Amino acid sequence: MKKYGKDIILLTFFLCVALICLSCHFFKNGFHSEEDSRTANIYLNGEFIRSVDLNEDISFRIDSPGGFNVITVKDNAIAVTDSDCAGRTCINTGYIHNNTSFIACIPHGLFIRIDSDQAGGDLDAIAY
Ligand SMILES: [Zn+2]
Repeated sequence: MKKYGKDIILLTFFLCVALICLSCHFFKNGFHSEEDSRTANIYLNGEFIRSVDLNEDISFRIDSPGGFNVITVKDNAIAVTDSDCAGRTCINTGYIHNNTSFIACIPHGLFIRIDSDQAGGDLDAIAY
């Protein structure tokens, strides 16, 4: 009877340890996915021209045969903030922050898409 009780304590102890390890692992993974480095890829007329790290707040201009686009990165999101294109649909799209949306400036042949780590992307697909 005494031995049996000791086993239960040991079992409970191991279960607790396993549970703590599991929750730590889960927490670490969850935390990691939020800190994923996201990259926006910019294409001009179907050709990749540059990628931008969304962790860095920057603003730059892209000149194309059709005109120009000013691209701004702020708070892990990217937007076209100025352009001389007709319609200005790209500006009206506003900031995008995940890989389920994109920005297109059709008159200039500009296309912006966010790519994140495969794991992060999968998590986003579930979260959104
Ligand atoms: Zn545009």
